[in-house]
Amino acid sequence: MSRPAHPDYDVVIGLEVHCQLRTESKLFSSAAVSYGDAPNQHVTEVCLALPGALPVLNGRAVELAIRAGLALDCKIHPTSVFARKNYFYPDLPKGYQISQFEEPVCTGGRLDILVGGERKRIGITRIHMEEDAGKSIHEGAVTTQVDLNRSGVPLVEIVSEPDLRSAEEVGAYLRTLRQILRYVGASDADMEKGQLRCDANVSLRPHGETTLGTRREIKNLNSFRNAQAAVKTEIENQANLLDDGGTVIQATVGYDADADRIFVMRTKENADDYRYFPDPDLIPLVVPEERIAEIRSALPELPAARADRFASEYGLKVDDAAVLTSSRELADWFESAASAHGTGKAVANWIIRDVLSALNDRDVDIDAVALSPDAFAALVKMSDDGRVTPKNARDLLQEILFDGGDPEALVQERGLEAVSDTGELEALVDAAIASNPQAVESFAAGDKKSLNFLMGQVMKQSQGKADPGSVREILARKLGG
Ligand code: ADP
Ligand code: MG
Repeated sequence: MSRPAHPDYDVVIGLEVHCQLRTESKLFSSAAVSYGDAPNQHVTEVCLALPGALPVLNGRAVELAIRAGLALDCKIHPTSVFARKNYFYPDLPKGYQISQFEEPVCTGGRLDILVGGERKRIGITRIHMEEDAGKSIHEGAVTTQVDLNRSGVPLVEIVSEPDLRSAEEVGAYLRTLRQILRYVGASDADMEKGQLRCDANVSLRPHGETTLGTRREIKNLNSFRNAQAAVKTEIENQANLLDDGGTVIQATVGYDADADRIFVMRTKENADDYRYFPDPDLIPLVVPEERIAEIRSALPELPAARADRFASEYGLKVDDAAVLTSSRELADWFESAASAHGTGKAVANWIIRDVLSALNDRDVDIDAVALSPDAFAALVKMSDDGRVTPKNARDLLQEILFDGGDPEALVQERGLEAVSDTGELEALVDAAIASNPQAVESFAAGDKKSLNFLMGQVMKQSQGKADPGSVREILARKLGG
């Protein structure tokens, strides 16, 4: 490992994120958007660029792009223009990609990220709509096949201001962006399916300098881990180069994750010239202000606002509120349980301690839980009320979390009702004292651990149903007495 920190330089990063909109059909054709099907099953004459085929804009995609823009606090432009971005590639039959260039649908937004407990605001420069290209499948050194299922799938490109300052901030930005896009239903943003891909522009400048340094752009980062690792490596490389008196040359680069290595794809001299121009097949996209207002009013509560509300309304710690709002589904589940239970705090603790760790163990999310929020709340309540000991309640929860069940009925059926009757507990304690004279003796001799041993005996005799607090109290009284 070389120098991890380079105090002489400030790091500057801007991200371009491509995100697949959650539509059923493509941006300009009726072909289905699907993933994992046999190649070339979802193509029309538009996807194939047959002569005379004309694009027809997907209204749903426009709505979702606007939702994304509103969620990121952008200005939504009532008029935007589709442009042709010209380049040749085998998986691009038209010879151009339809995108937006000079007049994108959204500009000037922001995304707040949390880094090291601090909230930081990252500017969003623009969001434009565009179609995805097809996919080239390389087999060995000589054969390449083209799959056009992805050709024309609707995307938004979300371009950030150069406001990010570290690989860690890149990770936080991508995670928060994914969370928001999912909340508003604009995208499933599943990175494993290529629905969220990121290009990272990285430059360094001497500490305190205000003009931007020369950037290099790392293309096509397709996981959070790769994005963070690539940026970290690129920062190291540039810093080492500058330390050695070199200069950074603007370039487009790639990241080989297996080797943790950055490689140059092309330098500025062979920079792309896309010869953008407005697509003559498409009239300007006009979205009336009333329609924009309608989309705005249908937006759900966004995660940051919801976390703030959870913290104040349910008296939760800020961190806990953030965890419970990490996905809309989890936040909904919590709120249903909280309302069934009557207090949010206890429910929140149980979710964070018991439910989330169980989800983690199985590597699933809240959708996998079969237990209803109401039944969950009922179980928490039984534990709160001392009707079931905490341990028995937790064990029962793990048993029914993924299969469902009625906690009330199960507690009855199995006789799990806690023993809190003082007479019964006194009898159990007396029995434990009588049959363990040695422990009683060592307790008297000052060995405080013996109390725990005796507690254990009582709990065992009660089959875990005795209320531990009361048992401890009675034991201490009898022994200390
Ligand atoms: P393109 O890459 O298509 O030429 P831009 O020039 O608009 O597009 O920049 C794209 C991204 O690069 C934006 O996220 C922007 O914030 C970022 N960026 C631009 N200049 C720099 C720089 N010197 N250092 C780091 N990021 C930069
Ligand atoms: Mg770029």
